[in-house]
Amino acid sequence: MENNFNCWFQSIDDPNNKFPIDEIIYRCPDTGSLLEVAHDMEALKKHDSTYWKDLFDSRYRRQSWPYGSGVWGKKEWVVPFIDDKNIVSMYEGSTNLFWADRYGKQIGVEDLWIKMCGNSHTGSFKDLGMTVLVSAVKQLIDNGNEIKAVACASTGDTSAALSAYCAAAGLKSIVFLPKNKVSVAQLVQPLANGATVLSIDSDFDGCMKIVQEVCKKNNIYLANSINSLRIEGQKTISIELCQQFDWEVPDWVLIPGGNLGNISALGKGFLMLRDLGLIDKLPRLVCAQAQNANPLYLSYLKDFKSFEPVSAKTTLANAIQIGDPVSVNKAIKILKEFDGIVEQSSEDELASSTAKVDLTGTFNCPHTGVAISVFEKLVKNKTIKKSDKVVIISTAHGLKFVDSKIDYHLEKLTGISNTYSNLPINVDNSIDDVMKVLDTEIK
Ligand SMILES: *Cc1c(COP(=O)(O)O)cnc(C)c1O
Repeated sequence: MENNFNCWFQSIDDPNNKFPIDEIIYRCPDTGSLLEVAHDMEALKKHDSTYWKDLFDSRYRRQSWPYGSGVWGKKEWVVPFIDDKNIVSMYEGSTNLFWADRYGKQIGVEDLWIKMCGNSHTGSFKDLGMTVLVSAVKQLIDNGNEIKAVACASTGDTSAALSAYCAAAGLKSIVFLPKNKVSVAQLVQPLANGATVLSIDSDFDGCMKIVQEVCKKNNIYLANSINSLRIEGQKTISIELCQQFDWEVPDWVLIPGGNLGNISALGKGFLMLRDLGLIDKLPRLVCAQAQNANPLYLSYLKDFKSFEPVSAKTTLANAIQIGDPVSVNKAIKILKEFDGIVEQSSEDELASSTAKVDLTGTFNCPHTGVAISVFEKLVKNKTIKKSDKVVIISTAHGLKFVDSKIDYHLEKLTGISNTYSNLPINVDNSIDDVMKVLDTEIK
């Protein structure tokens, strides 16, 4: 690979505030604003769109390490400064773009696709960002920096991804989890991968405050999505889904939002595709929030004129139970640029949607359920037209959330209508009894 593609950090408020990409820095020291990774677009533009399409296609899902990874196959656009020898990859990305034709027919939108980002090493899209971040840490250490550990606060999936990539790299990881607010699968992942797991009697927002303090000193590197390196990996979702459509752009992309890094990443990917000539229009973006953790939705109702954090209430969509999202300014900027919409879904709506779509062969997480119920609302009020091409981003694998999914089917959740619940049937050890049951089941 040519290595004349530069990137650097810059403040999201003032692009003149620039910092070297190999500096350990998370916010602009003058203004405290978030940073983003900027690329030398002039250097990238020296190649035309056909060059990039052919290059990406030639690497897609191949074994030539690390370029077969959905993230590293786009390395020049992501983080070109990392030497291949420092890359920590588990073949992330290249996830199925599932044609949801049976479910789509039920709703009347037949050009409907679900991007299965949870079909990944640790079961969520967080792998896309974490491969970049952990590789960057290896590069920084290689450059002579002392980094003793990598830490994050998490609603469950970030910690799983961090622990796995750190274990693969031989780095120490420390994760801060809100006590009793993550699923069993989410808790066991960092334990299994040897992370130091701190269970804090607080919520995600509380854990986030602690980890930022801890990382200010002690040579501990911060892995939350406040760290803009992760956004660079996650933005490959947009690049990859356009690639999967042979560079056709969908009309709509819907995504569940909590800390709002992923909606920002999605937008950044599409902008880069447009600016480098691979696509000639932008989709409209929809950020779907749980009603119990909906600060962006409330701000959207006021045309984003102001934003106030909320205290997030318990939601089945625990990975987006966030009241004070770190990336809110990035997200609002992106939503304005993409004629975006924010919509919310109640607990009953998200549980029903998750179960309803599962009946057509998927196995969704509750966050994907939030996006699906928002999709149905927007079709119902005719914002999304039946002829539109629609992509729903599925953010995690349903197997990480079996605790709440089984409670739904066993009808143990309060305030949920159980329209699609499917209870196991207890039958005596007798052919006659079994046949009696089957007579009523098979009609
Ligand atoms: C992290 C996460 C989200 C939310 O992404 P943000 O970038 O925090 O908005 C949604 N779904 C799942 C499963 C997640 O793990």
